[in-house]
Amino acid sequence: MSIDFRRSWMDEDLALFRDNVVRFIETEMQPHDEAARKNGHVGHALWRKAGELGLLCTDIPEEYGGGGGDFRHEAVIHEEMAARALSGMSTGVHSIVAHYFLNHGTEEQKRRYLPRMARGEIVGAIAMTEPGAGSDLQGVRTRADKVEGGYALHGSKTFISNGFLAGVVLVVAKTDPTQGAKGTSILVVDTQDTPGFRVGRVLDKIGLKAQDTSELFFDDVRVPASAVLGGKEGQGFFQLMGDLPYERLIIGVSSLAAMEGAYRATLDYVRERKAFGKPVAEFQNTKFKLAEIATQIKVGRAFIDRCVEDLVAGRLDTATASMAKLWGSEAQGRVVDECLQLFGGYGYMNEYLVARMYTDARIQRIYGGTNEIMKEVISRAL
Ligand SMILES: Cc1cc2nc3c(=O)[nH]c(=O)nc-3n(C[C@H](O)[C@H](O)[C@H](O)COP(=O)(O)OP(=O)(O)OC[C@H]3O[C@@H](n4cnc5c(N)ncnc54)[C@H](O)[C@@H]3O)c2cc1C
Repeated sequence: MSIDFRRSWMDEDLALFRDNVVRFIETEMQPHDEAARKNGHVGHALWRKAGELGLLCTDIPEEYGGGGGDFRHEAVIHEEMAARALSGMSTGVHSIVAHYFLNHGTEEQKRRYLPRMARGEIVGAIAMTEPGAGSDLQGVRTRADKVEGGYALHGSKTFISNGFLAGVVLVVAKTDPTQGAKGTSILVVDTQDTPGFRVGRVLDKIGLKAQDTSELFFDDVRVPASAVLGGKEGQGFFQLMGDLPYERLIIGVSSLAAMEGAYRATLDYVRERKAFGKPVAEFQNTKFKLAEIATQIKVGRAFIDRCVEDLVAGRLDTATASMAKLWGSEAQGRVVDECLQLFGGYGYMNEYLVARMYTDARIQRIYGGTNEIMKEVISRAL
């Protein structure tokens, strides 16, 4: 008997969908992952392929070109990639951007962007963080000055996932610098042939090597008045806050899947690897470590599955979603570290999955709001 990590929310249709996702990953992603890791991005063709196969914007309504599914479809994609340490396509960020359009965009914005995002013709990015403002987004200095017919954007952003390949960027900027949160808006910026917009370096990170995390520069970038997300100024913080459960649960879901992937790879390895004349799996320390890890995964699965069900039912609150991000990412860090130890020196070699999982895991505690900010959010709900 082996331990069963079955999800409570899976059904037959989702199982077929999962098969399609795995096929895409095995034929289109894995063979090119080494090249993507060297280049720091996966290229546009992979996004278009994913779009052709119906693997983008799966939880966006069909009338806007999406798959008409729900968060469970997205969860399947995040899981299968995370379990294999395939970080190149930030489908999470792409989906988050699509949901900003869906939940807050004008009808014209939804029709203009969502179908192309679902086809993979344009990749979405969201640019909040700046060199001087991360956790404290009130400190954003990027300005959207009013000019005839629209706005002129000035400023710079950093650490932007999908930044290099993005066709559309949601830019958090001050439309009224005299106001705090109320003076902040989200502006929709097309990156193609836009004078004054420039993508900086693909940043050199310790992990997520295949993912294009970049700097973005806005030097008098002109956008029309209709580029304000939702068509009304000053809504930026309200829009950012509204989608937090969705964003945080993506991290919780992928954390747990990464733990499962690491656990399985480690189980296989310790059964093969011999020391002192017997498989490493037979040492009591190995058995106890893996028993602890399997227990953490099983307990975590109950909580994450509940969060998935609650999100689909529209009742996941921000504090609980923050717990999923906090607990999931902390547990992922511990588990992957312990798994790596059981690989000995091979665990430190990049060619081993567990090594990539180790460096990829570290960011989960930082992005999407740091874990310290998660504790702030949770403590406010106590
Ligand atoms: C790989 C990667 C991808 C990213 N993708 C994106 C993206 O797509 N879009 C985007 O906008 N940003 C993105 N980010 C940025 C990320 O969200 C920020 O790095 C993160 O929010 C933290 O901001 P900061 O780096 O400025 O750290 P700071 O805010 O300077 O924090 C430094 C330390 O102080 C702590 N701290 C801050 N405030 C408090 C407080 N009130 N109480 C206790 N401790 C506190 C933090 O927890 C942290 O430990 C990405 C970052 C990375 C590395």
